Amino acid sequence: MIGGATARVPAKINLHLGVGPLRSDGYHELSTLYCALSLYDDVTVRAADELSVTVTGESRRQVPADATNLAARAVVALATHAGVDPRVAITIDKNIPVAGGMAGGSADAAGALLAAARLWRLDIGRDELLAIAADLGSDVPFSVVGGAALGTGRGERLLPVLHRGEMHWVLAVAGTGLSTPAVYREIDRLRARDDDHPAPAGTARPDALMQALASGDVHAAAPLLHNDLQPAALSLQPMLRRTLRAGREAGALAGLVSGSGPTCAFLCADADAAVSVAAELSGSGVAKAVRTASGPVPGARLIPTN
Ligand code: ATP
Repeated sequence: MIGGATARVPAKINLHLGVGPLRSDGYHELSTLYCALSLYDDVTVRAADELSVTVTGESRRQVPADATNLAARAVVALATHAGVDPRVAITIDKNIPVAGGMAGGSADAAGALLAAARLWRLDIGRDELLAIAADLGSDVPFSVVGGAALGTGRGERLLPVLHRGEMHWVLAVAGTGLSTPAVYREIDRLRARDDDHPAPAGTARPDALMQALASGDVHAAAPLLHNDLQPAALSLQPMLRRTLRAGREAGALAGLVSGSGPTCAFLCADADAAVSVAAELSGSGVAKAVRTASGPVPGARLIPTN
């Protein structure tokens, strides 16, 4: 038996997030275009006497180091499915912002699934793994798959999307996170209250944006980026308006709140522009941290264990 296995998993942003009606199961019907970015968590799983979770990295204190951690829940779900003993030590080296709308917890769950399957040498098919992933959370299947993909249902049903070339992004990470359920509750509240609320994209497929991505045309893609949750994130954290304005003033082609926020993602013309936008945004003091990243990148993959 091998001693341990490590998976590296990317963060995601939503280039398009259309939120449809609330379903009877409590989820909203979505039409979303995911893109995996070059910002990674590493998840290591080792055989141990009991199930444990250790988190390293700057934001380790914001992440539960117990059985409620999504990576631990993933290991238990896989062990139950495969009929093996889930006693492993999980180590998460965290770089993805926590509660930032970048699917950090989902990434860790996806990484834990891959690493545990390797540790236990399970003969598990991709579809089986994706079904377990979907039960753990709506974004977990995309964290496994990566690249660029259209997500429907609650985001768990995926179709790969053609994305030519690489796009360059600047991420402005806020000091305080936003809870995804709270942001969905806020969009429901705003929609119920405001007749003149901006018309949501809903579940329509973002065809024009998909065409721009297929041709690798960053300038055509920029004005088509869209997030139905943005008004809710801005309502809960009004300071994000300043962040979005600062990014555009710094030279980004476009900016939007990533998923349920509060991380703001800025699309830049090329790698040099991203470095200059990041430098200016850092100086403006609107964000706790500023990162550059590019995408799309592959989903969860095994790397050598230290
Ligand atoms: P999404 O974009 O999928 O809505 P998010 O990126 O906004 O998610 P996460 O970083 O996944 O949010 O964190 C949401 C909450 O989940 C955190 O407040 C944290 O307490 C909890 N959590 C559980 N496990 C993890 C994990 N492995 N990493 C980060 N957060 C975790």
